[in-house]
Amino acid sequence: MQCPRIRVALCLSALLWLSCVRATRPASTSSSESLRYHISYVREPEPALDVEVMLLPGAPRLFRFTQPGGVATVVAHREDGERLDIAVVDGAVRVPPDVRILRYRYALGARGRARGMRLHTGMGDADAWHVAGRAYLLRPHEVSPHLRAQLRVTGADALLPWLPDASGAYHLRGEDLVDSGFHGFGGRRCRVVLSDAVMDVALLGHFSHVSDARVCGWLEQAATEVRTVRRSFPHPRISVRVVSVPRRDEPLFGMVLWSSPPSISLLLGQDATEDSFTRDWVALHEMLHLAHPALLPRVPWLSEGLATYFTELARARSGRQSAGRAWEELVDGFARGKRAAGERTMEAVVSDSDVSQGTYWCGALFALHLDVEIRRVTGNRRRLEDVLEWLAERGTTSTLGAFGVAVDAVAGEPLFESLLARHLPRRAFVEQEGLLEALGVTVGVAGVTLVEARDSTLRETMDGTRTSGVAR
Ligand SMILES: [Zn+2]
Repeated sequence: MQCPRIRVALCLSALLWLSCVRATRPASTSSSESLRYHISYVREPEPALDVEVMLLPGAPRLFRFTQPGGVATVVAHREDGERLDIAVVDGAVRVPPDVRILRYRYALGARGRARGMRLHTGMGDADAWHVAGRAYLLRPHEVSPHLRAQLRVTGADALLPWLPDASGAYHLRGEDLVDSGFHGFGGRRCRVVLSDAVMDVALLGHFSHVSDARVCGWLEQAATEVRTVRRSFPHPRISVRVVSVPRRDEPLFGMVLWSSPPSISLLLGQDATEDSFTRDWVALHEMLHLAHPALLPRVPWLSEGLATYFTELARARSGRQSAGRAWEELVDGFARGKRAAGERTMEAVVSDSDVSQGTYWCGALFALHLDVEIRRVTGNRRRLEDVLEWLAERGTTSTLGAFGVAVDAVAGEPLFESLLARHLPRRAFVEQEGLLEALGVTVGVAGVTLVEARDSTLRETMDGTRTSGVAR
């Protein structure tokens, strides 16, 4: 059974931390690197990252911590060897022209108490730590397209979003320092190999009832389910960090950061069991965020709506849950969303909070409606997934307007704007009843029943009961 509170927690996920995603990664050359980072993982007297930044010719002089608060002073070393303490002011560090080296320590355990916050600022134990690059990595205030940096890690085996070269050096662009993703230090590793993608996994902390191989099997299952929505896994390689949480027995929380390639981190209860993985939706939900483009500017109700809607369909298509169960989950979610929305319009609900039940489930209902309308007007030959494929062929980011253009292109007629106009200005969830009735999803005292109805053929192709997409 899904936990509404946890589902709200997840809502903090993905796109809160989105800034940009790039379609291709140009080759970098070490000869043009103007910054050299050396990160040392230290255990005593407390777990910390000692960071040294060497400023080579052409290096910028104004730096900042994207998420300030973890470092108060940076020690600078001039060319003549003189030492200078530079205070971090509002996250910014101004470096005099004759400084060649910057050094500072980031204490991994010093910040934040809330679990979601600690995922960024530092979470771990003696053996392994998890942190977001944005919390500890001093990066140029502005990055030019030509800026290149080299980065090395010593003191622990690290899982960063990028792959190092044979010598262990990471060759980064300036943008990588801005969207630096999640980082794991220490722990254990496994690799999930799909036919079209690999997933490098760090296991941070210990699990009492499941093996590391089983944890990786859980991620493989989720990745396989993403491919019931997209023709191929959306990225050839991603990194995933799984962080153990004491005294809990289920997957609790997940987040995607749009580093390039993307990095996902998941909190998994230390006492999780096989059953926890069977019921889980968190890992799949996060990976489904990779299936849609990053919307810029952010449109959380749509991105969360897409991931939430497809989570239930994908679990049914893979056979992990029955079709009936998938529709029950959607109906239950709509009910939670409706309770949160009250009498407000969808527009009021989604502008109120990015992370409310109302926002997630308004978006999921809209995604369902969009899928149904596309299938209706194309005789069930095209579907919402085709919109994701259409957009993926054109890059990794989109706007709401471009998303609408893709919908209309796939549908073969104008559809998006009129559907949006039916939802946004009216009371949230007002379209739910008629939509479910047409699909043959009836809700009674005994729960959800699936019956034959005007669009039940569409419903059966959506949830995988029927494999042919073409209506009879
Ligand atoms: Zn999400």
